[in-house]
Amino acid sequence: MTKEEVLKKYFGYDSFREGQEQLIDNILQGKDVLGIMPTGSGKSMCFQVPALMLEGITLVISPLISLMKDQVASLNQAGIHAAYLNSSLTYNQYRKALEYAKAGRYPIIYVAPERLVTEEFLDFALSVRIAMIAVDEAHCVSQWGQDFRPSYLKIVEFIDKLPNRPIVSAFTATATKEVREDVIAILGLQEPLVVTTGYDRPNLYLGVQTPKDKYATMRNFIECRPGQFGIVYCATRKLVEEICERLERDGFSTTRYHAGLSDVERRNNQDDFIYDRKRIMVATNAFGMGIDKSNVRFVIHYNMPKNLESYYQEVGRCSRDGEPGECILLYSGQDVITNRFFIENNQDNEELDEETRQVVMMRDRERLKRMTFYCFTNDCLRDYILKYFGEYGANYCGNCANCLSKFETVDVTEIAKALIGCVAASRQRFGAAVIIDTVHGANTAKIRQYHMDENIYYSHLSKVPTHTLRAVLNFLLMNGYLDTTEDEYNIVKLTEKSQAVSAGKEAVMMKLPRTQELEKAAKKEKKGRKGSILGVPHGDSLFESLRALRSVIAREEKVPPYLIFSDKTLEHMCVLKPENKAKMLEVTGVGEYKFEKYGERFLEEIGKFVEMM
Ligand code: ADP
Ligand code: ZN
Repeated sequence: MTKEEVLKKYFGYDSFREGQEQLIDNILQGKDVLGIMPTGSGKSMCFQVPALMLEGITLVISPLISLMKDQVASLNQAGIHAAYLNSSLTYNQYRKALEYAKAGRYPIIYVAPERLVTEEFLDFALSVRIAMIAVDEAHCVSQWGQDFRPSYLKIVEFIDKLPNRPIVSAFTATATKEVREDVIAILGLQEPLVVTTGYDRPNLYLGVQTPKDKYATMRNFIECRPGQFGIVYCATRKLVEEICERLERDGFSTTRYHAGLSDVERRNNQDDFIYDRKRIMVATNAFGMGIDKSNVRFVIHYNMPKNLESYYQEVGRCSRDGEPGECILLYSGQDVITNRFFIENNQDNEELDEETRQVVMMRDRERLKRMTFYCFTNDCLRDYILKYFGEYGANYCGNCANCLSKFETVDVTEIAKALIGCVAASRQRFGAAVIIDTVHGANTAKIRQYHMDENIYYSHLSKVPTHTLRAVLNFLLMNGYLDTTEDEYNIVKLTEKSQAVSAGKEAVMMKLPRTQELEKAAKKEKKGRKGSILGVPHGDSLFESLRALRSVIAREEKVPPYLIFSDKTLEHMCVLKPENKAKMLEVTGVGEYKFEKYGERFLEEIGKFVEMM
């Protein structure tokens, strides 16, 4: 079989996505590869397709049990024999799986890294032919990644013990240079082909809001999207509890997930969401790794996360099937304070030596700063993220809050002068909050204690709302008119460019949203957004009956509905309305194996609908 045939037969897809083909071709030629692709772009296909074509077994190393289970279930659904070996198996199950594996039953085996160098596993590995080792989430080998796992170092140890070196392929969504270099060096990839595909997820709408009442804003948003599944990320466990409870009280089908719940409850809640039994998942960042639910239509961040790596990974769980999805970040100043606290008190850093700890903290503060600027930029949000990951966007994406709002360019020189003047007059000793309060003329204990009420700029701009002052101050920071120190205090400092502004040599022009536009946006929000890429409105009766059929089958087979067919596949059925097998196989996501299992039932359902028309 050719790779195209494998893709069609088992997975039901007609063509490869960007990067996939190149990676697969190189693997098939026996080369090592490193694939750097964003979440949801289809990394697994890059090792699964060649695994079915290479002679011998492919071992997939993956950090999380949930991730392994999900992928193995999905392969089994496609008619592929695959197994996983990790601590969730009893000893007897483990023995049995190894036995089958030895007999050559599985072309693909998922293994936890800590298993690799155990005697039993080595014994197995030496008795079979291992064609490839595919390292998923490869950034886990790097101390510079956000998710270092020492057990990943065992992979190299394992490879060294094999008599014949297999092909080694590595995959990650983390694109920074340090991580990439680490992965190549630590895993010992030999002249690897490195493929970096676009980070852009054009189907995701991006927005940032700074609402007075976050809860009300969110509730309205969810209300406008009946029937849609979504995730709400909160910064703390406590907030998860609170928000989940309020949403439930307001009548939304909601569940929750955080590290403080028992294993059983976490698993049940996760399943409720994945199996479409609950509509909204409220969770901390502990939720989501390895979740492949493809019909999550919105991701709301109730708090700003600590960096753009986390943010982009979390929003990456939205609309993995390529349909339109929405990602809204609800910002408030308190989020910055919470994140700073997390950085200063990060337990994970306790083991590090002092010098490394300082470096890590400084890096985290810098990342937080860039995250905060995301919430304040008036330029294209997508462009901002792509630039952060080292890519060049188009400056205008047409699918983010900023591209869709009208701005006017405003001269903010007077405000800038007062802010810079205040920093200078207080001898560069304070953070942003104190500077803003001073200029605005706040009468707080802190202001009096620091004698800022005696500063010549005190109350200078009492009529300008604080959010505008904050927006201008952030603009000055983002554009180098001011800077902040790298320590935990974030003291605002003058720069060379400050001088030009205070001396009146340079005007500061800034884009601000037009006020009428804000009102219009609010009205539009009330109406809600709807629709899908293929233009099949959900609620369409054929779509709904196919969805119901899918639920029935999912219950029979005890697997999540999306493992039967994705929403996109159902929509494509609605468009093509296939009447026979050949037509049905043209539907994206319908492979031969799945057709054998479910095809007739779906054909029948479509037939009934066509007759009624
Ligand atoms: P990643 O591991 O990069 O986060 P996955 O491998 O889980 O992403 O793939 C995301 C989704 O895209 C899955 O539902 C998968 O079936 C689908 N997919 C992968 N490759 C293709 C393709 N060539 N055509 C259509 N869909 C694809
Ligand atoms: Zn944009």
